[in-house]
Amino acid sequence: MRNKQTLLRNLPAVDKLLQSAPFLDLAADIPHALQLEACQATVECLRREILGRPEAFTAADLDIDSVAQRAAEQARQLHRPNLRPVINATGTLLHTNLGRAPLSDAALQAVERVSRGYSNLEFDLDNGGRGHRYSHVEDLLCKLTGAEAATVVNNNAGAVLLALTALAKGREAIVSRGELVEIGGAFRIPEVMAAGGVQLREVGATNKTHLRDYRAAIGEQTGLLLKVHTSNYRIVGFSEAVPAADLVGLAAEHGLPVLEDLGSGMLIDLTEYGLPHEPTVAETVAAGVDLVTFSGDKLLGGPQAGLIVGRREAIDKIRRHPMARAMRIDKMTLAALEATLRPYLDRERALREIPVLRMLAESAGNLRRRCRKLAATLKKTCGGHVTVEILAEVSRVGGGALPLTELPGWALALSLPDGSVEALAARLRQGEPPLVGRIQNDQLLLNPRTVLPEEEPLLCRCLAAALNAPDH
Ligand SMILES: *Cc1c(COP(=O)(O)O)cnc(C)c1O
Repeated sequence: MRNKQTLLRNLPAVDKLLQSAPFLDLAADIPHALQLEACQATVECLRREILGRPEAFTAADLDIDSVAQRAAEQARQLHRPNLRPVINATGTLLHTNLGRAPLSDAALQAVERVSRGYSNLEFDLDNGGRGHRYSHVEDLLCKLTGAEAATVVNNNAGAVLLALTALAKGREAIVSRGELVEIGGAFRIPEVMAAGGVQLREVGATNKTHLRDYRAAIGEQTGLLLKVHTSNYRIVGFSEAVPAADLVGLAAEHGLPVLEDLGSGMLIDLTEYGLPHEPTVAETVAAGVDLVTFSGDKLLGGPQAGLIVGRREAIDKIRRHPMARAMRIDKMTLAALEATLRPYLDRERALREIPVLRMLAESAGNLRRRCRKLAATLKKTCGGHVTVEILAEVSRVGGGALPLTELPGWALALSLPDGSVEALAARLRQGEPPLVGRIQNDQLLLNPRTVLPEEEPLLCRCLAAALNAPDH
């Protein structure tokens, strides 16, 4: 008991800690409020540890220097940004939890150029009057898709909601039972429709819907025909869906519009890189679909955005809708989006410059070479601590796109003598920057497909730090 009291008395006071050498070093960088919080928390934590296990302490543990070091480390943690870069070694290209598409250099530069000062966001430089924010991407989107008009909102979920409500509020939208998609969390087609004041009219069966099913459902109440890309699942086997062109023909007989939610949407055909054939946005527009919506940050490889292209009249209805204002895209996103779209005017350039497309196109041979190089470096820096193998490993597109597609490649497989890769994975997540891989059969797999080449030295440093940590 006396020992406890003595230890507690020896705890440095908060104001002494704030005056100590480690804190004088931090003073210029870290706000005083965070320094104070860190000192208070550290002292409180030590107090509880002393009350719990006094025998674990010596007087030296409580000297001002060692307590100040601990508190300063905590202050640095408190000051670290919450949202920060992570190295994605999962091999999943559009990992929604890791921020989906990484942006191209051009997109990043555009954000910086446009948002550091002022811009012509809604200012017409020719006549000095008011301009339109959507004009910066509309022509590009029309060129790339063949559409008459285009607009953009915050994300594709918003685009679908807005398009549904602008075209069919108070009426019915006819959709196949095979396409009542749920896209992660709260985005479900039936619920989006309800939110937009549109009645759902389901037709067909889960596995098969025919044109005659749509025809039989058309009536007084019909507002539009909706087609939804089954992004994150596939109905395989005895199944059938109606092609967009056939729906367009039927809709035209009744003077109805067709809306297609393409989900990821692709501006260029990527079958040569092992992706299944999917209609591109241009093909969907050419089929006569009135409005096509797709995401900016899926396979397009840009910032989060919802792109809407189609007929001028339908796009005008969307733009004029009051809800459009609530979903309007900001200048940074718009800058990144324009810079992402421009290279698509030249397919080869898009494949070279847009990170998601580069990752998609990287050959298995190249991935294997990168694995060999990384393995050699790891052997030098982390030698005795870890066994490194190179395994065949597939990548997935992710982000709810192309669920059955597997991109063949290679990965590093790390195993530890004591088998505890969970602990290694946890240390890597806590590292700076955090590194995220995938655990499989007691091995930690690191897939270089989603690691930017310039991140490789950093990846090796992260591994060395985690493997050579003292508690390891
Ligand atoms: C991903 C997806 C959405 C949602 O798009 P966000 O840009 O994430 O809002 C909507 N519909 C389909 C079919 C999708 O695949």
